[in-house]
Amino acid sequence: MHVAVFSTKSFDKEYLTAAAKDTNINWRWLSESLTSQTLHLATGCDAICAFVLDKLDAQTLHEIAQQGIQLVCLRAAGFNNLDVNAGHQLGLTMARVASYSPNAVAEHAVTLLLSLARKPCISHANLRLGDGRLDEIVGFNLQKKTIGVIGTGRIGEQFARIMRAFGCHILAHDITPNQSLIDIGIDYTDLEPLLRNSDIVSLHCPLSPETHHLLNRERLQLMKSGALLINTARGGLVETEAMIDLLKNHHLGGAGLDVIEEEESLFFSDHRADGISNQNIATLLALPSVMMTPHQAFLTKEALTNIAQETIANLLGWQNGNIPTINRL
Ligand code: NAD
Repeated sequence: MHVAVFSTKSFDKEYLTAAAKDTNINWRWLSESLTSQTLHLATGCDAICAFVLDKLDAQTLHEIAQQGIQLVCLRAAGFNNLDVNAGHQLGLTMARVASYSPNAVAEHAVTLLLSLARKPCISHANLRLGDGRLDEIVGFNLQKKTIGVIGTGRIGEQFARIMRAFGCHILAHDITPNQSLIDIGIDYTDLEPLLRNSDIVSLHCPLSPETHHLLNRERLQLMKSGALLINTARGGLVETEAMIDLLKNHHLGGAGLDVIEEEESLFFSDHRADGISNQNIATLLALPSVMMTPHQAFLTKEALTNIAQETIANLLGWQNGNIPTINRL
């Protein structure tokens, strides 16, 4: 089986090659992102393996089907970049990696939160310049703070459990509450009271037409003065310009962002020579109350191992007619 791997990074090659040992899979490594302009690079392949910034819109899927490619598999959990309805209408088989390591993402959300709470990146940068003063790096304890968790599926559940172990009070919101969190005494509430009462709000729900700008200006303004926002889910959940205004006027105390709208303009590639073209991202990076990482919450050895193994299971499952049900789209 020939598989075109778009947006290939060195770690994709390493982990997919190891997981595909003893299979009939032949990889075609493509550093390019998938668009209708780059699709021709997959000519002759049986399947396409794509990542989060690859564009699998109706037009590209139509061209994929026209090329005779029948399988599209994502090496990701989120699938907001894939038009699933269009794919079904075209008769394509589609799969993702539904669960590879919820802890990888949950632990990164905690990393961003602790970075904002205790400012180690600022003090480390200051120390490298020979500045060991303490005045600008006063932090706060997480114990006894209220954490609002929006989306309590696989990742949100782990995040809630970790924050509970820090001694935080958890307020949860989900369209389908998670019974295992209810069983350990976690309180569910509507979105608005969660926003009004949380010291820290962390997003863990998928991006869809229903959740686009879930945190719009009006809702961001409901957040407590000085509250922190953590987003490791998808940039489109937050109205970026409203978030910037509220960070600038200090209504928001800080933002820890692993994802941001239009992240494809900077994330996953080297722009040191041409600079940061996206004005909102440049503004956020200049604010001391922001900690941003380039969509790396998934990037652990454990997660990469699981992503590779599940991707192989999807590819071989397609050949044998038994793609794992949880991964089928
Ligand atoms: P999941 O499907 O297990 O959980 C998502 C939860 O969100 C579900 O419980 C669902 O009911 C809930 N939800 C859906 N719509 C909602 C709404 N309007 N309001 C509140 N809750 C809502 O998914 P998961 O594995 O926990 O992943 C969550 C998201 O994290 C993914 O969709 C993906 O976008 C993102 N993610 C990011 C990274 C990263 O590297 N930054 C990695 C993996 C996943």
